[in-house]
Amino acid sequence: MPKSSAARLYRGTPLELVRLARLLRAGELVAVPTETVYGLAANALDARACRKIFSAKGRPITDPLIVHFHALAQLDAIAETNGAARRLAKAFWPGPLTLVLPRRKSVPAIVSAGLPSVAVRMPAHPLFRRLLKLVGVPLAAPSANPFGYVSPTTAQHVQDGLGKKIAHILDGGPAKIGLESTILDVRDPARPRLLRPGAITRAELEAALGCRVSAPPRRAEEKNRGAQLAPGLLKRHYSPRTPVVLHDVLTAAAARAGLRDEAWVLAAKPAGRNMKNIFWLDARGDLRGTARQLFSTLRQLDDGRFKKIHVALAVGDGLAEAINDRLRRAAAR
Ligand code: AMP
Ligand code: MG
Repeated sequence: MPKSSAARLYRGTPLELVRLARLLRAGELVAVPTETVYGLAANALDARACRKIFSAKGRPITDPLIVHFHALAQLDAIAETNGAARRLAKAFWPGPLTLVLPRRKSVPAIVSAGLPSVAVRMPAHPLFRRLLKLVGVPLAAPSANPFGYVSPTTAQHVQDGLGKKIAHILDGGPAKIGLESTILDVRDPARPRLLRPGAITRAELEAALGCRVSAPPRRAEEKNRGAQLAPGLLKRHYSPRTPVVLHDVLTAAAARAGLRDEAWVLAAKPAGRNMKNIFWLDARGDLRGTARQLFSTLRQLDDGRFKKIHVALAVGDGLAEAINDRLRRAAAR
């Protein structure tokens, strides 16, 4: 593990990508940009390399990783596919959808926390895709943050959280989506189960599959299931250190009347002045903008200035389900 104070940042020139690909093949870790959040990548077929991910993040080995790959031709060697998976692949890959399928033996058990299943995704970020192609092997990557903290949506976030633990960060700009991928369990193609809501919504999945997709498991059930469940579903996750308080409705007037040493985060930019401790996730309250800004806003407000962070829950369906899921985890104690 490198001892230097900061990781090296790469812009992704062709020469740099060749170098990073070589490092990955040699079993090193590289933080990578994706359209969802930044990931901490290792050769998914190398158990020793994958073990480094867990130690750099302080992540329990009961929390499985997502395997990223470049081309559909690689999928058969990683997972056992079925008709539902092929349909979804056609509709949403490359993109922010992760599928849980039966795991092939070529994928070491540590990647899946010993589960017989494996989570797979073909990402869309052009720089990450170029790197995946050069590496030639699938890459296991969870979010590139210390375990339990807010996921990183910029290279600087990765540097802030893991800069002393890792040596290489590929900077692909701010994440376009800003929320972790939608995770769908399609081991039983007739009964797809949503494990984690994300930018690909339940309605979109149902339209592509032509059948119902069951909702994410309820919190009470989660507790008793250990490594059976998607640990991205841990009740407390994606959490700032400052307590987060959620509001179904949060008006500008209520925020202005609120305590001065607390932050008030509205869904949209309010009119008027006096904004000292008032913030918003997207000026116009647009859900895509909200998703993109959510994690960076939580990080900014988590610098010790405020005693609490009040946030308005998102309104609407689709993306709001994913945004509110992350907000509830950030607020869970
Ligand atoms: P992260 O990208 O950091 O949220 O980590 C990857 C997440 O993928 C894990 O926390 C799990 O929620 C999910 N995951 C990975 N593999 C599996 C699997 N085999 N079954 C269910 N969920 C999985
Ligand atoms: Mg994570």
